[in-house]
Amino acid sequence: MQKSPPLPEWIKPVFRKRPYLEYLAPRLRRLGVATVCESARCPNLGECFSQGEATFLLMGEVCTRDCRFCAVQTGKPAPLDEDEPRRVALATKELGLKHVVLTCVTRDDLADGGAAHFAAAISAMRKLAPWASVEVLAPDFRGDCDAVKTVVQAAPEIFAHNMETVSRLYPQVRPQADWERSLEVLRCAKKCRPSLLIKSGLMLGLGETREEILDALGQLRRVGTDFLTLGQYLQPTQNHLPVVKYLPPEAYRELAAEAKEMGFREVLAGPLVRSSYHAGEMARLEEHREPV
Ligand code: SF4
Repeated sequence: MQKSPPLPEWIKPVFRKRPYLEYLAPRLRRLGVATVCESARCPNLGECFSQGEATFLLMGEVCTRDCRFCAVQTGKPAPLDEDEPRRVALATKELGLKHVVLTCVTRDDLADGGAAHFAAAISAMRKLAPWASVEVLAPDFRGDCDAVKTVVQAAPEIFAHNMETVSRLYPQVRPQADWERSLEVLRCAKKCRPSLLIKSGLMLGLGETREEILDALGQLRRVGTDFLTLGQYLQPTQNHLPVVKYLPPEAYRELAAEAKEMGFREVLAGPLVRSSYHAGEMARLEEHREPV
C-alpha cells in the first residue's frame, strides 16, 4: 500500500455525475456498451458527456497487461463480442454524441490485437452516426504495423496512442510496454496516411524531470504527432503507484507553450486533462480537418 501526498488546492475536481448517472448510465447498460470513463474513474466524466462526447471501451474490461497506474482489471479476457461495434454505433446515434473516442484494454491474446474490431466499429459509426467524428485511442498492437494500417485504413479522424510517461519510467509504470515500440506505432500511422491527425498523451507527476518531458515531446514531434495532451497522474487506489509530485497549473501552461513552439498543432495541458478530455474540441478545429 503506497499513499500519495494529499491533493493540492488546484486538484479538487467537481464530480458533476448526476446528469450522467440519471440519463446516460441506464442507456449505456441497456445498449450493453462500456466506457473507459467509468473503468478509469475519470474526474471529467460528467463534463464530457454533457458536451456530447464519450470514450467507449471496446473488447471487454479485462486487460492482458498490468500497468501500475491503471485501475482496469488484469486477467484473461472473454472472447470478442462481434456485435459490439454495432451497439457502440447505436449508442452514439441514440445519445446524439458528436465526437466518440474508441479505445480498448490491451488484447495481447488476439492475433491482430483487436485492429479489425476497431475497423468494424468505425464503419458501423459511419453507417449509424455519420455526423460523429471518430478518434481511435489504440494500444501498441505489440508494434504490429499491419494492425495499425487496418485501423488507419478505416479512416478515423484522429489516431491516438498514449506514451503515458517518459522512457526511463517504463519499467515501473508500464512494464509490458516499450518506448520505441510505442513511438513506432505513431510513426507507422502517420506514414500510412500522412494527412491523418496523430495524437499522444503523457501523465505527469510520476517522477519524470522537466528535461525528460521536453525530450519526450521532441521525439513525439519527430514521428509526426500533431495533437498532445498533458495531465496530472492521480493514484486510482493505494495498490497503484503513488503520485511523486503534483505539478501546478502554471507548469502545464509553460509546457504547453514549449510544445506549441515545437510544432504541435494543438496542446491540451492541465492538472485534470486526460487524453480524451475535450477531444471533440480538438477534432472540430476545422483548420486541422482534412477530407476523409
Ligand atoms: S494496457 Fe491500458 S488498459 Fe491495460 S493496464 Fe495498461 S493502461 Fe490499463
